[in-house]
Amino acid sequence: MKRLVLVGGGHAHLSVLQALAQEKLTDVEVVLVTPSAHQNYSGMLPGWMAGHYSLAQCRIDLQALARAAGVTMVIDRIAGMDADRRCVGLPDGRHIEYDLLSLDVGSEIDVSWLEMAGDKLLPVKPLDAFFDAWPKVLAAANAQSGYRLVVVGGGAAGVELALAAHHALQLNASNAQVDLVASDSGLLPGHAPGVQRRMTLALARAGVQLHAQKAVGIEQGVMLSDATVLQADCVIAATGARAPSWLQPSRLLLDEHGYIAVNGQHQSLSHANVFAAGDICARQDLTMARSGVHAVHAGPVLAANLLATLKRLPLATYKPRKRSLYLLACGDQYAIASWGGFSAEGAWVWRWKDRIDRGFIARHSNSGRRRDTLVSKEAT
Ligand SMILES: Cc1cc2nc3c(=O)[nH]c(=O)nc-3n(C[C@H](O)[C@H](O)[C@H](O)COP(=O)(O)OP(=O)(O)OC[C@H]3O[C@@H](n4cnc5c(N)ncnc54)[C@H](O)[C@@H]3O)c2cc1C
Repeated sequence: MKRLVLVGGGHAHLSVLQALAQEKLTDVEVVLVTPSAHQNYSGMLPGWMAGHYSLAQCRIDLQALARAAGVTMVIDRIAGMDADRRCVGLPDGRHIEYDLLSLDVGSEIDVSWLEMAGDKLLPVKPLDAFFDAWPKVLAAANAQSGYRLVVVGGGAAGVELALAAHHALQLNASNAQVDLVASDSGLLPGHAPGVQRRMTLALARAGVQLHAQKAVGIEQGVMLSDATVLQADCVIAATGARAPSWLQPSRLLLDEHGYIAVNGQHQSLSHANVFAAGDICARQDLTMARSGVHAVHAGPVLAANLLATLKRLPLATYKPRKRSLYLLACGDQYAIASWGGFSAEGAWVWRWKDRIDRGFIARHSNSGRRRDTLVSKEAT
């Protein structure tokens, strides 16, 4: 009996669980280690904050997927691993040995330069903690006149969170102010100028004040590089990603930023029995952004390669598309589309995003699977 250990219930592992449910391996024990029985979907987080979705609509039941795949679930987070000894370690000192390992644990938020904001600091990851904390922030803002919320991070997550927060506060008739700090590299780096222009206008229309400067955390909130102090009651950090520190002593080959170095098959360059997908890995054959899009699209290839390794078959390569589509929610049911040099905006973009996001959840839920089965039955 061989053991395949899946760590993290991230986007790519959803495909792996579904592939395992179809394959029903008899000679392989599969274990999923996940801190929660649910996977909260980041794509719908801004819509949930803005009041468009309930929590139940934004989460995927990992337990149901694991049950359907005959996978044993361990509710915990791994605290370390030794790739030479083929084991992962849990915080209480227990070890789980593996023959084959797949890691899809995402990335962390680098808040090192915001830490002086102390209790006011609210990093968007771990997502579970953010989902717990946001209703408390909203309640505090409603209870206090002149509440000030600062969102730090000018990427897709930062702008969506700032606009979602602003919308939620307005719905509650709060007079809170929302500021967005986008660092000196500006708003939405990597997106086309048309997208940046549209988002700048969306922020201005909403009354979210944009600061294109670096910020550091201070006791009162944040201080900008020109020494302006933004007083804050809450500082949401949607700043750059960083790799988990437990990877450092793992003996896996890491890139210069501490992410797992993988090839086009998403296999570790140092340990052929370790695979990784999503934010945690760094492709060494090409440059690939850390995004949900790639984590989702790499999923079926990861699933195929784990099964191929168990059967000693050739591996497949994940070939990312040159351009990815981003649909950026603007708080109200309105969104901006970004695809290479192309941009568009409107309520129809929001409806498009809504359809894609609800479809993603449905595909990974029991009802979605039942529908898939029905469709394939009809097709045959
Ligand atoms: C607000 C927001 C909006 C975003 N919008 C977009 C978007 O529109 N488009 C886009 O492409 N990207 C978007 N992103 C980025 C996207 O969320 C990430 O790139 C994506 O989630 C990465 O997927 P993943 O599978 O690597 O990890 P995740 O989805 O983060 O999943 C990792 C899982 O591993 C678990 N885990 C973590 N540590 C451990 C451990 N030690 N042991 C066991 N399990 C562990 C976590 O609990 C989690 O369930 C957004 C991010 C945010 C925060």
